[in-house]
Amino acid sequence: MSSTVSAAAPSSPHVMNTYGRLAMAVSHGQGCRVWDVNGREYLDALGGIAVNTLGHNHPDLVPALQEQLGKIIHSCNYYHVPLQEQLAAKLVALSGMRNVFFCSTGLEANEAAIKLARKFGHDKGIERPEIVVYEKAFHGRSIATLSATANTKIQAGFGPLLEGFVRVPVNNIAALRDATANNPNIVAVFLEAVQGEGGVNPMHMDYLRDVRALCDTRDWLLMIDEVQCGMGRTGKWFAHQWAGIVPDVMPLAKGLGSGVPIGAVVAGPKAASIFSPGNHGSTFGGNPLAMRAGVETIRIMERDGLLDNATVMGRHFTEALQRELADQLASGAVKDIRGRGLMIGIELAVPCSALMQQSLDKGLLISVTAESVVRLVPPLIVTAAEVDAMVAILAPLIRNFLADAGVTA
Ligand SMILES: *Cc1c(COP(=O)(O)O)cnc(C)c1O
Repeated sequence: MSSTVSAAAPSSPHVMNTYGRLAMAVSHGQGCRVWDVNGREYLDALGGIAVNTLGHNHPDLVPALQEQLGKIIHSCNYYHVPLQEQLAAKLVALSGMRNVFFCSTGLEANEAAIKLARKFGHDKGIERPEIVVYEKAFHGRSIATLSATANTKIQAGFGPLLEGFVRVPVNNIAALRDATANNPNIVAVFLEAVQGEGGVNPMHMDYLRDVRALCDTRDWLLMIDEVQCGMGRTGKWFAHQWAGIVPDVMPLAKGLGSGVPIGAVVAGPKAASIFSPGNHGSTFGGNPLAMRAGVETIRIMERDGLLDNATVMGRHFTEALQRELADQLASGAVKDIRGRGLMIGIELAVPCSALMQQSLDKGLLISVTAESVVRLVPPLIVTAAEVDAMVAILAPLIRNFLADAGVTA
């Protein structure tokens, strides 16, 4: 087989056509860089969509995983898995919550959260429980989680959708009160502390505190999907911690294993005893390889101060973009540069998915989400020099794109 990837050919007739893939095939990576099969180097500002917390080929993660491979990859949940207990204890300590269920992906973590909320309702006599979800939300692509997701393109063709969701706008406590008034079937509020796929939309601190208070008053579960914004990305372990609140249920995945598939649902006291044996499970969930990836990811993050790095580099990145695109911001061609830590969105005045290919051509991996938002979620090990190199590629690219689109002169 030729190692050259042609721009026109689909990657394989045998891989199901679920992604509109760009014509580049990754061969390997090192730190915040990857190389394609033709030997070309790229800076990675996407991190496998907020997955590669420690970048690529981390010198401490890889040997630990290699050691684990030689010990045991998968045992099974009929027996105790010591590494599960170790990672659970760590997540409990970092979150101030109570216990953890392990699975393998984000949608599975959210699926478990939805089941927890429904059983929470059933246990108190609510036969048709309803969960509050949000405009622009993304929770995954299973039937339950795509029903909780807002984007109608994601839902199209897969009806009937799951019932039992009430949708409200973000950052509007009055709208939440109105939508739930006189509805005794509400059991939970389910939100992303910073919406990812919806365009990097942070929930306001006051709003998060108001929702926490409302959930307490009404005896609802507050369920915060930290699949994308969690695990240090915003500069705290979990993005909701900036608001000084603690949720009742917290799904995690993406960055938790630095690339090894892993998901988790962390539960506080109100949700920790809802499930009992037989209620939920996962064959792969909590397997020793994934657990080791989680344990080592957190150990290295703590040792190397990666929360602080996310805060400092996030500020450096955002400020550099604001400086380089100041005129575009002033003219409104760039509508907003927002985010927290190393979860950054640049919203343009026009749809800009073509920027993904253009950026690739210039040697930088990014994504565009919600049609007009450039999303930057690099590894948390990124350095100032790498951020500067990313900005040096991206800012002129955005400037030229806006000029070509006729948005600016
Ligand atoms: C990516 C994502 C999911 C889905 O995770 P998968 O591992 O792809 O199933 C769910 N919620 C949020 C907030 C996400 O960003």
